[in-house]
Amino acid sequence: MSTQRTIPRSAAPQPRQAARRRVVGSGSPTSPAPPAEHQPGIPAVAKVGASGSCVRCETKLAGDILVTRDGKGNPICLPCAGLANLTVVPSGDVALTRRAQWQSGRVAILIGWSPRSKRWERRGTLVEPWALVSAKAQCEADSEKRNVARQRASERRVIEDREYRALFRAAVLRLYPGCPRAEATDIASHACEKHSGRVGRTAEAKALEDEAVRLAVIAHVRHLHTNYDTVIDANRDKRKSRSTVRGSIQEVLAAWASGRAAPTTE
Ligand SMILES: [Zn+2]
Repeated sequence: MSTQRTIPRSAAPQPRQAARRRVVGSGSPTSPAPPAEHQPGIPAVAKVGASGSCVRCETKLAGDILVTRDGKGNPICLPCAGLANLTVVPSGDVALTRRAQWQSGRVAILIGWSPRSKRWERRGTLVEPWALVSAKAQCEADSEKRNVARQRASERRVIEDREYRALFRAAVLRLYPGCPRAEATDIASHACEKHSGRVGRTAEAKALEDEAVRLAVIAHVRHLHTNYDTVIDANRDKRKSRSTVRGSIQEVLAAWASGRAAPTTE
């Protein structure tokens, strides 16, 4: 049975939620006080900012000692919090972290202040050393299997993407039978490029709705069949430039829709 699958949702890493839960105020001048918990029921651990002492045993705390906090933001040393002798699993290896966290009886989340994102971020997980040893062994034992699964998933995405582009191209040619085949291919590839935020990646386009396909064609025609790029270079006004070339675009679209070739530009 896979250990990963048996992890309850609440125990899975949820850094975003933690960011919302952070306690603001009474911290160092550059960061708010670290939160007591990183996710519900799991203590957060961070290096103490200024010096101070543990509110339970009054041990002096220096800047590089890890502490957790009580509900009021006061530092508690790890032995007092029952978190002594844990080992850190640095963030990055999701399978290792999940497995170690799942098996460890005591868990804390190591957090650090990020000046860039201005929030406390997860940097690692503190677990019992034996849990890390066991998790590493499990990860080594099935690393081949996980690599194969990752590879298959990646191949599946490539195939799905290729099929989607083919469907998109077919939709372009259905609406605009006069569109040259090579251009239909370009329109589909360009619009469907992954992570581009272009029209082909929207939900409407994925449902191959006519309007989304039409928008992709218009964008293509604007750049390839009108002098839009020259116009916008000259006046730097997107709206005005688009309105200037609207007529030329309509001519091309009308020709393509009727199955004729586009009128030549320039
Ligand atoms: Zn203490």
